[in-house]
Amino acid sequence: MRSTHKELIHEPEQGEFTYSLIHLSKTNLPIVLIFTYSYDVNACALPYNVLMLEKIDIHLVDHCNLNCKGCTHFSPLAEKFFLDIDEFERDLTRFAELSKGEVGSIFMLGGEPLLHPEIVDFFPIARKLFPNTRLVIISNGILLSQMEERFWKACKRYNIQLWISKYDLSVDLSPMAKKAAEYGVFYGYTSTARTKQDEKFWTKCPLDVEGGQYWLNSYKHCTLKNCATLKHGKLYPCCTIAHIEHFNKFFGKDLKVSDFDYVDIYKVESWDTLLNVMQAPHPFCKYCKTTNYQADVWGASHKDISEWT
Ligand code: SF4
Ligand code: SF4
Repeated sequence: MRSTHKELIHEPEQGEFTYSLIHLSKTNLPIVLIFTYSYDVNACALPYNVLMLEKIDIHLVDHCNLNCKGCTHFSPLAEKFFLDIDEFERDLTRFAELSKGEVGSIFMLGGEPLLHPEIVDFFPIARKLFPNTRLVIISNGILLSQMEERFWKACKRYNIQLWISKYDLSVDLSPMAKKAAEYGVFYGYTSTARTKQDEKFWTKCPLDVEGGQYWLNSYKHCTLKNCATLKHGKLYPCCTIAHIEHFNKFFGKDLKVSDFDYVDIYKVESWDTLLNVMQAPHPFCKYCKTTNYQADVWGASHKDISEWT
């Protein structure tokens, strides 16, 4: 019998498949710094017998109020898009049916999810369909100070965690941590940075627009392959494939997504088939130069193709 995700899920240690949590807070509420994955490249070659999905991403919006160079979700290139609440409910209902609720975390993000005017209405739907799943808003935090009381109360009521992606910005987010604590909302920071100096850098994940990479090798070295993304009834194994449409449209390119690069959640016959597809390399991997990740100084995007290639 398959293990339940309650049996499997844990707060992973640094260096494991996904993020780890390091508690910084001396208060009663957990304020945490969440390191995103430190991959052991050799351990990336399908080492896991995947019994559950650790997490899925869902864009509530595609666009953003920040404009980061080389954004891996292509938000600086995206047109305005607000996820329809009925579509969200329909897809999550099907996903709950398929998974029997065995999903570790659902990340609601973008773009900047706080830009969605109905963000609060997504919470009860997600919580009803996934009562045991960690539900998280991933935000850059800039709009938090403008959120109304009903947002904070809904986060508390439906147990929605707020994880803030820190950038090298002058915005002081410390009052927001205090506010979260007042409302009893879990609040943390996500970062790949290990030091203050590291916070000034981002990692460029270059694309090969000619698709000339050896796809198995690209997959082996990829650090984005646990970003399974649910979008318009399809589950994609990573944010790159899910959102490449923005890159293609903006730059007039044609990086092709094939039928083998995703799972149609309305057609797939079983959850195990879906899990197998999620942990395998994909034809699209030929477009990713994962052996050529580059550290660059974080800054504003000029929407130049060199930021992504
Ligand atoms: S804040 Fe995040 S989603 Fe927005 S542009 Fe920057 S990296 Fe992309
Ligand atoms: S297409 Fe393959 S190599 Fe590229 S980001 Fe997705 S999983 Fe990684």
